[in-house]
Amino acid sequence: MGGWVKRMRSRRGAKPEPEPESRSVGRRRFLSAGAGVLAATRLKRTASARPQDELSVRNPSIRTREGESIPRKMETLDRQIWEEELSEFVPTRIFDAHCHIYQADFDLNYRAALARQEDFKTETVWTDCDIDTVRQVESVLMPGRQITRLAFPFPFYRCDFRKSNQFAGREIRKEPGSAALMLVEPSISAHEVEETILKHGLLGLKPYARYCPTRESECRITDFLPEHQIAVADRYGLLIMLHVGMKKSFADPRNVSDMLRLSDRYPRAQWILAHGARSFSPYPIEKAAPAFRGLPNLWYEVSAVCSMESFDVLFSQVDTDRILYGADSGDVAFSRGKIVFYGSRWGDLTPTTNQLGGELTFYLYEQLRAMRRAAIRLGLTSKQIQDIFFTTGDRLVRSVAKSMRDKFL
Ligand SMILES: [Zn+2]
Repeated sequence: MGGWVKRMRSRRGAKPEPEPESRSVGRRRFLSAGAGVLAATRLKRTASARPQDELSVRNPSIRTREGESIPRKMETLDRQIWEEELSEFVPTRIFDAHCHIYQADFDLNYRAALARQEDFKTETVWTDCDIDTVRQVESVLMPGRQITRLAFPFPFYRCDFRKSNQFAGREIRKEPGSAALMLVEPSISAHEVEETILKHGLLGLKPYARYCPTRESECRITDFLPEHQIAVADRYGLLIMLHVGMKKSFADPRNVSDMLRLSDRYPRAQWILAHGARSFSPYPIEKAAPAFRGLPNLWYEVSAVCSMESFDVLFSQVDTDRILYGADSGDVAFSRGKIVFYGSRWGDLTPTTNQLGGELTFYLYEQLRAMRRAAIRLGLTSKQIQDIFFTTGDRLVRSVAKSMRDKFL
């Protein structure tokens, strides 16, 4: 998750755009999915109650975030990048430590819009995304790769947490070697965390600074991940996938000191810093890497980082057996765009924001290109690359799963 948070925010409450002539795959999926049946029933009921108004009853337009459809094939530019730059670099076996699975029905704003028959633009790339959807796209974008994953729900602003976590737990069982995390927000009690984890076989927590009661840009770790939740993770030796808040991420010394204190106080929790310590520019990782060196329970996951400069710091200052590949699949990875950093900040270049012209390829490819360039420059060995893409993530998740099975289940 990155700068698109800002885009979504700015769109909330914006005037709905007209539905494009050829309806997207997402729209068709919506109509054929459970949520679509629900909407159709509701519309029908309204129609039969007021037959004289039948013509005025309309199907609300449901649009996905960038209005993109699920990629069914590579375009010429994608194929060129994959074949010339990526196919030799990306190993056959992959563990993706950052994957979102969700249904639009878990978004309470969406449900409210349906009830009011209002047009709606989703916060997500597609309306629904289950494991099969992710696998389908992966087979197009990363052909011939065998991929397992760490998955979690999508953090809708107004979210049905219970259903989201239940869905994640159920979906992940379809894929041996994969695991799922629980989406949490600060008001969830320790008891509920514990109960949800055990009930759905989840292996850790996925908190979000966007659920912070204060402003995200000023939100410290324990503001959005209270210590009563961390204590549960510590007791069970669970994973915590941490996407930190605050404007400067770990370039803000308060995040660094909080992380040092928490990793020490809760040593059995396995802390994974999402997006390379939220390093869409190199500045956060430049501060985080030396400060956290040697911490036994701290890891870095690299999804959506498209900056070669960030990977340059990460690969040169962090042991490669502490780095986990992640894609942000099910969210931005498979859509077109790139996170770029400029001046002292970063933002998303997307089909909507691109004023420069020219085609965009997938975020995933931009991330892999940046990883490859940095790996070449620093002379990473094929074993190191294999560790990053598969071994470290797979091993970490298996060790947590084993410990849960042996001690608690
Ligand atoms: Zn994400």
